[in-house]
Amino acid sequence: MDGNRIRKIVIVGGGTAGWMTAAAFAKILGPRYADITLVESEEIGIVGVGEATIPQINIYNRMLGLDEDDFVRETQGSFKLGIEFVDWGKKNHTYFHPFGPFGVDMDGVSFHAYWLRMMHGGDPRLVTDYSLTSVAASQNRFMRPVNAGNSPLSRIAYAFHFDASLYARFLRRYSQARGVKRQEGKITKVHQRSEDGFIESVELESGQKIEGELFIDCSGFRGLLIEQTLKAGYEDWTHWLPCDRAVAVPCAHGDGEFTPYTRSTAREAGWQWRIPLQHRIGNGYVYSSQFISDDEAAAKLMANLDGEALADPRPLRFVTGRRKKAWVKNVVALGLASGFLEPLESTSIHLIQSGIARLLTLFPSRDFEPADIERYNFMIAREFAQVRDFIILHYHLTERDDTPLWEYCRSMDVPETLKEKYRIFESHGRIFRDNDELFNDTSWFAVMIGQGLVPRSYDPVVEAMDEATLRARMNELHSVIGNCADQMPGHADFIAMNCAAKAA
Ligand SMILES: Cc1cc2nc3c(=O)[nH]c(=O)nc-3n(C[C@H](O)[C@H](O)[C@H](O)COP(=O)(O)OP(=O)(O)OC[C@H]3O[C@@H](n4cnc5c(N)ncnc54)[C@H](O)[C@@H]3O)c2cc1C
Repeated sequence: MDGNRIRKIVIVGGGTAGWMTAAAFAKILGPRYADITLVESEEIGIVGVGEATIPQINIYNRMLGLDEDDFVRETQGSFKLGIEFVDWGKKNHTYFHPFGPFGVDMDGVSFHAYWLRMMHGGDPRLVTDYSLTSVAASQNRFMRPVNAGNSPLSRIAYAFHFDASLYARFLRRYSQARGVKRQEGKITKVHQRSEDGFIESVELESGQKIEGELFIDCSGFRGLLIEQTLKAGYEDWTHWLPCDRAVAVPCAHGDGEFTPYTRSTAREAGWQWRIPLQHRIGNGYVYSSQFISDDEAAAKLMANLDGEALADPRPLRFVTGRRKKAWVKNVVALGLASGFLEPLESTSIHLIQSGIARLLTLFPSRDFEPADIERYNFMIAREFAQVRDFIILHYHLTERDDTPLWEYCRSMDVPETLKEKYRIFESHGRIFRDNDELFNDTSWFAVMIGQGLVPRSYDPVVEAMDEATLRARMNELHSVIGNCADQMPGHADFIAMNCAAKAA
């Protein structure tokens, strides 16, 4: 086996995907296993807008062995307990998609089934009133979970907001300290083996060639190796996810709140994100070019900022969908080179992480076993499709018909896999999670209810509990959650105490 081991890995691209891959390989494989070189071009630059994450990033951070306070400090980061959706299901309506559970499951039945029974009985409390992360978010509070037995304080789930450019630099320092070599330069030629088309080397503008046995394509939307060279093909999902452009701008904090959550506000032709960092707020308008011009979108964004804009608005273009094959021959595409679903649920960075984990599970020898490659491609395709359905849900389940975009979205046909989720939910509010799909019951429930899909009834099994007992338990849970939230410090105070960035 030893003679067959991959000894030279070349990572093409130094954005979030490239440096996340480099850091993971440096930690898991290390320079003794293989020579790892990352090629990036400062002239081309990075997309640099991926600034919100989901809790799974904690698994990646733990794998690297990061000190979390350092990580937040170095990336001007903040904490995220979920996403607030404004005007999505209908205008003048807000709901919260929290991380972490609703209430507690009772007698083996999901908490949300009991909540539905109460709701059908006329109880006015929202399901998010039973989520500690929702309640804490509404009060701008944050703390990490503590070891407190059954208390909701031990089940706080959270993710991060961070400055994408600082994140890439942070991971670059980590990777270089562990032996990853960085090569600056623009790749202008790609050389393939004549007998089978495997990539042999990439050539820089300077004429320097960088040889490898395994190439990771993290070159962003252009897909330098996976598409431009190996023609993997692209499955276009614009008919389901019609937003194809964004304009992004950072602004000063102004008078806005320092929220421990991302805000997503639906607009006439898409939606606007608001991501609070320590030194600024990240903002962007994601829109469909079919329904609004670039100038109008930029003007809308600039008119809806918390404080003074700190740069000119930056336009971005994309096509929602995925590469038909993420792994072809000796090239594995990660990050935007493998596809993009749009940033509504902050899933891109997670998909990078999950691609890295799957690749490490199926790490090739120089034989590049076709069965392994097929399995990898199957798993990536499935995960993209599952996340796609979850994002489509936000656009499709809406009462809005006030603009052509919303009229289009509410009447579009959706994938059969999503229709099945609706059908099962509509009767008794049940949710099935297929093959470890990324979003769990809490997420599906929060968004389906939040977007306005109320099941006709509830799981009949909850009637095994008598009503008085249920009411007493729900009241107790509600007050425990309120008390727990009261014990949490403010988000700004938590950062000041633990991980404030050094003044520039
Ligand atoms: C509008 C928008 C908002 C987003 N928001 C989020 C979010 O909130 N959360 C989230 O998880 N994700 C988000 N994403 C996605 C996230 O930005 C990306 O997943 C992440 O930045 C990874 O990008 P990348 O590294 O694949 O590509 P890039 O950042 O584009 O990096 C590509 C790299 O390849 C190099 N390169 C390319 N061609 C060559 C060449 N010829 N020679 C040498 N080097 C080359 C470039 O120099 C660069 O280093 C968002 C994306 C968009 C478009």
